[in-house]
Amino acid sequence: MTAASSTRTQVAVVGGGPAGLMLSHLLHRAGIETVVIDHRTVHEIESTHRAGILEADSVRLLTETGVYATGAERVLTEGDRHGGIYLRFGGESHHVDFERLVGASVWLYPQTEVFVDLHAARTRDGGDLRYGISGTTVCEVEHTPRVTCTDPDGAVHEVRADLVVGADGSRSICRDIVARGESGHRRYGREYPFAWFGFLCEAPKSAPELIYNRSERGFALVSQRTESIQRMYFQVDPDTDPADWSEDRIWTEMQLRLAGRDGFELRTGPIIETSVLPFRSFVQTPMRHGNLVLAGDAAHTVPPTGAKGLNLALADVRVLAEVAENVLLKGEEEGEQALAGYTDRALARVWKAQHFSYWMTTMLHRAPPAAGGAYSDFDERRQLGELATLVSSEAGSTYLAEGYTGWPTP
Ligand SMILES: Cc1cc2nc3c(=O)[nH]c(=O)nc-3n(C[C@H](O)[C@H](O)[C@H](O)COP(=O)(O)OP(=O)(O)OC[C@H]3O[C@@H](n4cnc5c(N)ncnc54)[C@H](O)[C@@H]3O)c2cc1C
Repeated sequence: MTAASSTRTQVAVVGGGPAGLMLSHLLHRAGIETVVIDHRTVHEIESTHRAGILEADSVRLLTETGVYATGAERVLTEGDRHGGIYLRFGGESHHVDFERLVGASVWLYPQTEVFVDLHAARTRDGGDLRYGISGTTVCEVEHTPRVTCTDPDGAVHEVRADLVVGADGSRSICRDIVARGESGHRRYGREYPFAWFGFLCEAPKSAPELIYNRSERGFALVSQRTESIQRMYFQVDPDTDPADWSEDRIWTEMQLRLAGRDGFELRTGPIIETSVLPFRSFVQTPMRHGNLVLAGDAAHTVPPTGAKGLNLALADVRVLAEVAENVLLKGEEEGEQALAGYTDRALARVWKAQHFSYWMTTMLHRAPPAAGGAYSDFDERRQLGELATLVSSEAGSTYLAEGYTGWPTP
């Protein structure tokens, strides 16, 4: 098919989510041109609720790289600083005080707002952003990469670039191209026998910070969005149909999971939106083939329990921006060295986050009973022992605080 237009750029970015847009922003600051293409429309992305917690380094990346005009840092004025979380089990809440333990905090600031801010920054700076396209193909990544796509009016466009970045999320097409090209590629992963039922509701806050709750009925998470809108999740089977859950049933289940002798009161209200989120742990390595590199969920996904996915996507592109600068602004040898080192640099953080997310998930969720007859509730008791150790040990709580707030970026 003949393309209606052909554009030459330095970096073509497939996927305009947080990873793709942040990379485009960082490269613009380095004087490198990008074209960003995305299957979804801006409206679709702005209205899909996903992550909510930013590590301090992610906040710094937003505030210290010119995303906002000076004095208009929305993440600071509209986000909520959280100095800890509550671990709740056995019907009692235990505060893990990150600020006291590691002198760090996280920010509650929804991913939808991160997208709004990055999209506004790229638009302000004249970025070439193409949303609502379809039929993306990526080819010739070994030498002269080309991306083609079809715009909403049906016209085919071609983008030729020095480097292509696959920031196209957990259903990445770029990941498969890297895998096909790299005979020694590996995929590591783990499936979990549960999913999260997520809902958004019109209700006041039930707690000032997130509550991670383990109960015999399964995990539940109480998180916030604004003073009057809250986001909550509870563990369900992966094949759960949201239509089977009435508003009454959802609140009854949440109340049962959170009930306790401390009289904790879950504040309820009309439910606006529901969804079921199956999850898995996944890493593909290497994250590069030829002149195609992967970033964010395209290369790795984590279960949402440790609030790491969005933060890892931003951490990848912080490294990748440096790599792209070497490739495009320095000599061939330096460029190749930088590309060759990208996977190891990115994965150093990814594997820490994989472990942390797996650990939080398995500590707090109820797994189907192991076939073990009289011994089948061993894991239930062991989890309680682990949680009790964690909240009573300075070392245990500090490990949680370090992981949750994020390891310092070298
Ligand atoms: C319900 C939920 C809750 C979550 N909670 C948290 C949390 O609390 N904390 C946290 O850190 N993380 C959380 N995550 C994970 C987080 O949302 C992701 O890790 C994050 O979105 C990754 O960013 P990304 O830019 O890599 O991918 P994405 O945000 O998925 O962006 C990829 C983009 O690529 C586009 N795309 C896909 N295929 C193509 C194609 N072929 N051509 C063009 N464009 C394409 C998509 O439309 C999308 O806009 C959660 C995820 C979900 C689903």
